[in-house]
Amino acid sequence: MTARFTRSFTKQAELPLEALVAAQNVLRSAALHRYQTPSPQASETALLEADFADWQGAQYCLAVASGGQAMQLALRACGVQSGDAVLTNAFTLAPVPGAIRATGGMPVLVETTADLLIDLDDLAQKAMASGARVLLLSHMRGHLPDMDALLRVADHANLTIIEDCAHTMGATWNGRKSGSFGAFGCFSTQSYKHMNSGEGGLLTSDDPQAMAQAIIMSGSYMNYDRHGAAPALSYFEDARYDCPNMSARMDNLRAAVLRPQIPLLDRSIEDWKTRHDTLAAALVPLADAVVLPAPINGAIRVGSSLQFRVPALTAEECAQLVLRFADHCVEVKWFGCDEPKGFTSQHRHWRYVQAQSLPRTDEILRGLFDMRVPLSFSVQDCRDLGAIMHAILSTFIKGVSS
Ligand SMILES: *Cc1c(COP(=O)(O)O)cnc(C)c1O
Repeated sequence: MTARFTRSFTKQAELPLEALVAAQNVLRSAALHRYQTPSPQASETALLEADFADWQGAQYCLAVASGGQAMQLALRACGVQSGDAVLTNAFTLAPVPGAIRATGGMPVLVETTADLLIDLDDLAQKAMASGARVLLLSHMRGHLPDMDALLRVADHANLTIIEDCAHTMGATWNGRKSGSFGAFGCFSTQSYKHMNSGEGGLLTSDDPQAMAQAIIMSGSYMNYDRHGAAPALSYFEDARYDCPNMSARMDNLRAAVLRPQIPLLDRSIEDWKTRHDTLAAALVPLADAVVLPAPINGAIRVGSSLQFRVPALTAEECAQLVLRFADHCVEVKWFGCDEPKGFTSQHRHWRYVQAQSLPRTDEILRGLFDMRVPLSFSVQDCRDLGAIMHAILSTFIKGVSS
């Protein structure tokens, strides 16, 4: 009989001791608001911006309330207005079309390849047909496309790129960090992403004018001189009169919790790789039925989640398989479900987005499963989990094919 898995899929790695100490200092000072500190340059939020810009290799960084807010501000700073078409991946998480709709933009969803990447032919075609000026490129579940090829398409279609790096903080394409290819990189520090402050977001850019606008819109009031990685003051001359305040600030408590996590990121990325690859290796013997997205040459992925497809299963069988996993305390999500569940939904559930025909995406999502890989799992946990998943899958596949 197959064992049950005993670890929790929602337990994150412990926070470093420095984060607890720094958080306590902020609480003791009662200066939680980012502009509240007497010596402004030393606020935890400003220091976080400086540290993250440094780590990411970006000129500018703005700390905000969430990844979704980072995307909204980026879209607005790139000039998206109500009624504008905005291209984005059909396979993504709800806050991505949500950010576009919040600006009044109209999401144009681009098809998905078998390796869960944006389909570049469909992108080129829809860029032309829609007249969109902006692509909100979602590196969903950490899968980076061939960025050289993507940049050629974007260039040809005159698209401004905003990168959604919620799952690619630290991922690289030919040595270059994701988030550095577009006008803006948008990061999330929600608990299940690569740094954990419960909620939070980071926006990076090398464009001083657009970043000045984003800072004013984030709710800086006239305190934009109290930021850690902001453009020169001259870039705010017009922005401070032109840009509405949309109150999306980060606070010092969350910044204090995040800063000590930055130096740990590189190590975490290695740890995720070992864990992800251990799990993936357990499914390789089932390759006839279970398809893993092929690694893309040149891309280094952060393995904070695992995806696999079982294309031969019917919808009913997919639903049964999720239950079979659950019987063994293995939390697997299914993107083909009729109903949105937990964090998982897909384009057919998003009534706030104009309905679009996406046959290839539908075909991929129909048999697509997804699992979190928290760093609280040891490598041995991942070996055990891999063995359990292998046993469940092989029994299940034999059952349905006989
Ligand atoms: C989590 C997530 C976001 C949004 O981040 P929040 O901080 O939760 O707003 C955006 N895109 C993807 C792909 C995500 O998973």
